[in-house]
Amino acid sequence: MSKLNAAEVEARLDAFFEENLKLVQLESGYRLSPESQNVARWQTRLYWRRLREIAERVTDTEVKLSLPEQVTPRTKVKFGIEGIVDIVRENDRVVMYDLKTHEASYIRENKELYRQQLNVYAYIWKNLRGEPLDETAIICTTFPPEWRGILQDEARLAPALAAWEPVIELDFDPDEAADTIRHFAEIVEQIEAGKFAPAPASQLKEHVPGTKSVFGRYVCRNCDARFSCSSYREYALGSSAPTERKFLDYYNDLGAEADREDFIDAALELAPTLADPDEFRD
Ligand code: SF4
Repeated sequence: MSKLNAAEVEARLDAFFEENLKLVQLESGYRLSPESQNVARWQTRLYWRRLREIAERVTDTEVKLSLPEQVTPRTKVKFGIEGIVDIVRENDRVVMYDLKTHEASYIRENKELYRQQLNVYAYIWKNLRGEPLDETAIICTTFPPEWRGILQDEARLAPALAAWEPVIELDFDPDEAADTIRHFAEIVEQIEAGKFAPAPASQLKEHVPGTKSVFGRYVCRNCDARFSCSSYREYALGSSAPTERKFLDYYNDLGAEADREDFIDAALELAPTLADPDEFRD
């Protein structure tokens, strides 16, 4: 079979993307707005353009790693940990890649968080499965948000893409996995006991490392619980704007434009068709 050229590969990727999108929409009942679809489509194209070398070398795709039958320390609740990774076996070296849809700058600033997770995966792969492992790395699939304006402008996109470094190597130590699993068990125990509290209001004003945003914008604006969260209410109503304006902003803040479109599109999609509009009149 003849090898596909770059344009043909991208056309195939787009076709796979559309198929998957339809499936996800059918299965979830959730519909992405045209804007979100476009960003997701570009995410797959740019992943291919920048990471083609790695993608073509992957020998074990979407390997499911499971750590079942874990038990919380006091209440003895059973839980399991699962993850999916890609493996490249090459020249007697084995590299494990964990794909994340987070911004590369955020991952670089918060490496320890990601390292702890990779330690658990490394422990399952190496110690439980007895497989060799030489390196671990995160692949960040989200392109920088500032690229949204240059996606159609090849002259500006190409150099930005060449300078993009979405692979972040992290050292690993399977022996440290026990601490992460213990910490995870503590969290499971608290959730099961209904003990969870929002971050303190003061934290919502703090800058999130690796972003240009504060916690209240970067995290809370995407949180479905924000309108019933005391910390978010305090954060949102605590600005120096006039009281009436603050209330309006708070209750009208339905998220980013793309999220609002998603919400409206999904609601319209799910709305019943009016066979007889008179039925709904008094
Ligand atoms: S809005 Fe959500 S993420 Fe933000 S503090 Fe409250 S519960 Fe946590």
